[in-house]
Amino acid sequence: MKTIIGLEAHIPINLVDTKLFCGCSLPDENAQPNTFTCPTCLSMPGSKPVVNKKVIEFALRLAIALNSEIQNQIIFSRKNYFYPDLPSGYQRTQYEIPLGKGGFVILNSRKKVRLRRVHIEEDPGALIHKGAYCLVDYNRSGIPLVEIVTEPDLESPEEAREFLNKLITTVNYLGIHDSQKGTIRADANISIEGNNRVEIKNITGFKEIESALFYEIARQKQELGEGKVIHQHTRGWDTNKQTTFFQRGKETEIDYSYITESDLVPIEITKELIEKVKKDIPELAHEKVQRYIKQFKLNKEDAETIASEFLLADLFEKVSKKIDPILAAKWLRRELIRVVEYNKLNLHDLEIDETHLIELLELIDKKQITERIGQKIMELLVEKPFSPKEYVKQQGIKVVSEDKELEILCKEAIEQSKKAVDDYKSGNEKALFFLSGAVMKKTKGQADIKKVNEILKKLLK
Ligand SMILES: [Zn+2]
Repeated sequence: MKTIIGLEAHIPINLVDTKLFCGCSLPDENAQPNTFTCPTCLSMPGSKPVVNKKVIEFALRLAIALNSEIQNQIIFSRKNYFYPDLPSGYQRTQYEIPLGKGGFVILNSRKKVRLRRVHIEEDPGALIHKGAYCLVDYNRSGIPLVEIVTEPDLESPEEAREFLNKLITTVNYLGIHDSQKGTIRADANISIEGNNRVEIKNITGFKEIESALFYEIARQKQELGEGKVIHQHTRGWDTNKQTTFFQRGKETEIDYSYITESDLVPIEITKELIEKVKKDIPELAHEKVQRYIKQFKLNKEDAETIASEFLLADLFEKVSKKIDPILAAKWLRRELIRVVEYNKLNLHDLEIDETHLIELLELIDKKQITERIGQKIMELLVEKPFSPKEYVKQQGIKVVSEDKELEILCKEAIEQSKKAVDDYKSGNEKALFFLSGAVMKKTKGQADIKKVNEILKKLLK
């Protein structure tokens, strides 16, 4: 049973100075509620919106990067619905003519995910539920969003995650979105081939989007397995229970009755503007790969992995100002990513700082700690940032050579596996594999197996 998924992703364009239609700054993380507002983003009678040109330029960067067909004139429309987070009773969005039509994103499998449109809209305020009552914060009201609508080309939650990851990396690279300041939100349309589709509204954040898709696919398959019919309807996502829940049926679908926003004039997207925006686009991932290979002599694999994540590329460039780039690439790509993946984290979750990585790599480079200690420190650094130099001092970690350290590990292995030692001594050569295997495990496969066998044989004599 093939799964069919289409996404509508909303990404805040939060690297502009002001909101979409007024002069308010974008609220910072610790802002008091309703302090980043003005008559316009509170929709007071008589207030008039003025388009922030920078948002148009930033959204254009994205539409160009996503291979969308840029429209030469765009308009805004009012999407009417009544909800307390929307003081005007309508959301200003693009309906009839989006900024970009079509476009695509290519996944690692070379699969092409087609896009339907890319457009700009304003964020509503936020409702804060507190037990029996509900508060509303309009700080978010009027923050520019870019909405990316895909065709139903995605076939699994993993593909959806990869698509969103690519999208986020692109907006990070384009310099239009800071993931630390705002989160991606998405609506998802899901169906099992040959059946009706179900829409899940307003899921916040990467992990949640993936979890919601997993849940909903399993739910639909179970219903179908029981011989039930899936009716077209809309569901919500409960983050606490990690389940989707029924919101409304098709017959109660909201009628948004779009009308043109008469307070705003149509905006011309001239060739000159497109050329200017193209010139402003910063270095993108594929360009970084070429530069890393040329400038730092990285191998293609390291260069591609590092450039595929904006944050990783950023860390790498900062670290390699002080550290041999090849050593930095090796440790960031293999060790940092290994630890992050093992802990099922996202690079965006880390508080890691380049100064700590530089300290760690200096210790390794000057052979003041072994690679194995280095790996351990990396594991701790991912949990919580600290100074590796101080740590080494405090822990009294002595400088031991790799050979000396291997000897210690071999001794441990011998002490811990009496049976293998006895077997070996009574002539079973194969018992040595057990011991060397134990040592290799402790070094996470980093040690030279020949050397390990030599040391073991010497110690067992
Ligand atoms: Zn405002």
